[in-house]
Amino acid sequence: MAPTPPFTEEHEELRESARGFIERELAPYAQQWEDEQWFPDELFGKFAAQGLLGLKYPVEYGGQGGDYLHEAVLCEEMARAGSGGTAAGIGAHINIATPPIWKFGSDEQKQRYLVPAIAGQKIGALGITEPGAGSDVASISARAERVDGGWVLSGEKTYITNGVRAHFIVTAVKTSRQGGHHGISFLIVDRGEGVSSAKLQKLGWHASDTATIAFQDVFVPEENLLGELNEGFKLIMANFQWERLAMALGAVGAMQIAWERTAEFARERNAFGRPLSGHQAIRHKLADLATSVYTCRCVTYDALRRFMAGEDPLREVTMAKLLTQRASFELMDACLQIHGGAGYMREYWVERAARDARLGPIGGGSDEIMREILGRSLGL
Ligand SMILES: Cc1cc2nc3c(=O)[nH]c(=O)nc-3n(C[C@H](O)[C@H](O)[C@H](O)COP(=O)(O)OP(=O)(O)OC[C@H]3O[C@@H](n4cnc5c(N)ncnc54)[C@H](O)[C@@H]3O)c2cc1C
Repeated sequence: MAPTPPFTEEHEELRESARGFIERELAPYAQQWEDEQWFPDELFGKFAAQGLLGLKYPVEYGGQGGDYLHEAVLCEEMARAGSGGTAAGIGAHINIATPPIWKFGSDEQKQRYLVPAIAGQKIGALGITEPGAGSDVASISARAERVDGGWVLSGEKTYITNGVRAHFIVTAVKTSRQGGHHGISFLIVDRGEGVSSAKLQKLGWHASDTATIAFQDVFVPEENLLGELNEGFKLIMANFQWERLAMALGAVGAMQIAWERTAEFARERNAFGRPLSGHQAIRHKLADLATSVYTCRCVTYDALRRFMAGEDPLREVTMAKLLTQRASFELMDACLQIHGGAGYMREYWVERAARDARLGPIGGGSDEIMREILGRSLGL
């Protein structure tokens, strides 16, 4: 079958090799890592060895010299891991922690953080959310006070993916007394004295370490300021577009697999003398779900095409994020229903998939925030 634009044959080759790697090295361990509530750090090294931590980054930093379209392939294929938590941990490193360093970092910062991150030697996290400020990013209160040679950082971040294992945290802080969007800066904070993490228990994504991170009088050297002082809001906004597209792609990948597996289950499982798929209600449900997968894919690929063409597709990316995250959760719930009692059991993939999918409408900007952005962009 010919590749669906914007993807080409080259991307389909990458898809095949990434899929093989994920099905070999990740999928068989999904349940184990779920139970252990942790996937091994060594996975970053394995991804790096395949060139998968630097698909979109230049060769001079150890990347593959590709672009966001190559990354998009990986985002979709990560769903094959069968573990939202594992996909989230690797995804946070690739899609939200390292891009700001690449886009806004000095060459020296790229050498110190991006190069080892691409090599799988240093793990990154992005720390924006705080106990008192999530959707309302401008209200963050972590403070960095100017001292000789750098800053002293105090405050707390929460719900941070890779928050326990990360070697460095790309952290949003207030660097001025000005309110609102002003006076936010980013510091690259190394784990060390004054930095402590506590892992959180959660509904899904069990294999990932979502954590609260406390910064207590942490000295951050001058050279770790990322981007311009007091202009951190720009960095946040720049990061969101790809993060949301990546989430939409991940949902499309997860929905596709869930549909295929559920259709197979419905063909094999019998009730009242015929396969489940022989009952019109189930057949129609599966037809609706296939339509949802297709719709989500079309909307996401359209946003991706625009993103790749250098447009600023705020509206389309926002719509893709809003549509796919809710649709994915609803599809997983419907797939679980078709599995009957088995769907509620740990041993079936769908129980985990349904829990994992619940994060989508909350993380990376909630459904309500997506609607606020759309309202503004639609002149309402
Ligand atoms: C598993 C997980 C991983 C995460 N990983 C990271 C990470 O790596 N880094 C990071 O910085 N953050 C991370 N987050 C945080 C995530 O981005 C926030 O949880 C999210 O942005 C929502 O913020 P909040 O939880 O503070 O909810 P709040 O902002 O308190 O919102 C609560 C509810 O009110 C709604 N609401 C808020 N404002 C409005 C409004 N104006 N109009 C209507 N409704 C509104 C929200 O939509 C939501 O339903 C993660 C969260 C989770 C759960």
